[in-house]
Amino acid sequence: MAEHKHTIHQHHFGWDNSLEPALEVEPGALVEFEVVDASGGQLSPRSSREDVARLDFGKVNPVSGPVYIKGAQPGDTLEVEILDFGPVSWGWTAIIPGFGLLADEFPDPYLKIWDLSKGRAEFADGIEIPIRPFPGTIGVALPEPGTHSIVPPRQNGGNMDIRHLTRGARLFLPVWVDGALFSVGDTHAAQGDGEVCGTAIEAPMTIALRFRLHKGRRLAEPRYVLPGGMPETDPKGYYVTTGYAPDVYEAARKAVRFQIEHLQEEYGLSREDAYALASVAVDLRISEIVDAPNWLVSAFLPLSILLRLPSLPLRGKLTPVRASGAHQRVAARHKLSRHSASVGKPVVRGPIRISWPE
Ligand SMILES: [Zn+2]
Repeated sequence: MAEHKHTIHQHHFGWDNSLEPALEVEPGALVEFEVVDASGGQLSPRSSREDVARLDFGKVNPVSGPVYIKGAQPGDTLEVEILDFGPVSWGWTAIIPGFGLLADEFPDPYLKIWDLSKGRAEFADGIEIPIRPFPGTIGVALPEPGTHSIVPPRQNGGNMDIRHLTRGARLFLPVWVDGALFSVGDTHAAQGDGEVCGTAIEAPMTIALRFRLHKGRRLAEPRYVLPGGMPETDPKGYYVTTGYAPDVYEAARKAVRFQIEHLQEEYGLSREDAYALASVAVDLRISEIVDAPNWLVSAFLPLSILLRLPSLPLRGKLTPVRASGAHQRVAARHKLSRHSASVGKPVVRGPIRISWPE
């Protein structure tokens, strides 16, 4: 017999532990949520940048729910397994004035509408982002009474924008009120670690989740477990910019700024397009946070999104690097054939060939 599946259509704005549950379920239940896009329906495939300027912030980032999990009490942990996502047809990425990592440098509204109906996200001719859906916002009610903005993440989870919370991930949320009052929203078709311009590929879709309850397992803040085999390493490699500063936020701003400059110089993108592309595809990583007084952030651009790869690692005259005698001796010592010695070298397609020092 097919497993009974509940579907949630109702959504709400803000975390509020006095909301009536849309559904009550036993632990173990599978629930499907219909999630509207993060603009709450204010943007459509026909919208323009003027519509971004007119967004009503009282109606952004709705979440579907809440679901009451029977038996859940403060001090328990709610496990949420991400099972599947429905198909996506369209999405949007915006630069919203006053919002985003480089808000002071991008004062004007910007909007990119994506056609996702062919199972891929084409940014421009020759630039394609793989679709990797996840919910940007996922959490439970807070212990404090009243309505709390959805925008910042807190001890209840919320708008965490963790792109790894995709199929197979298991999220562990601390329970703060009876029934937990779980909600989910802000589904993204793709996003880079950092979501730097403030939005991802924002896309309405359905999401199927399974709930489990861990009685008496108290967590201070959410944690998650990821399955193996997730598509993490880009097969074509990365072009990485770095930024250093005594403040991680400032270091991240520099790394992103340099990546935007790279995308402009090497791929001819506009500054706004480069910022939006970084938001949906570039991953920020803290490379070190110990070498006082400066911390270092790296910004990883995955090269497989660039279908016709013209980029140079650095500008300047190309000088082919030939294997020196020392290289050849090392290769011989490791019994590498000519073929296998070249394995692992970055492969550059297109008219320009670059030899990398090995
Ligand atoms: Zn979002």
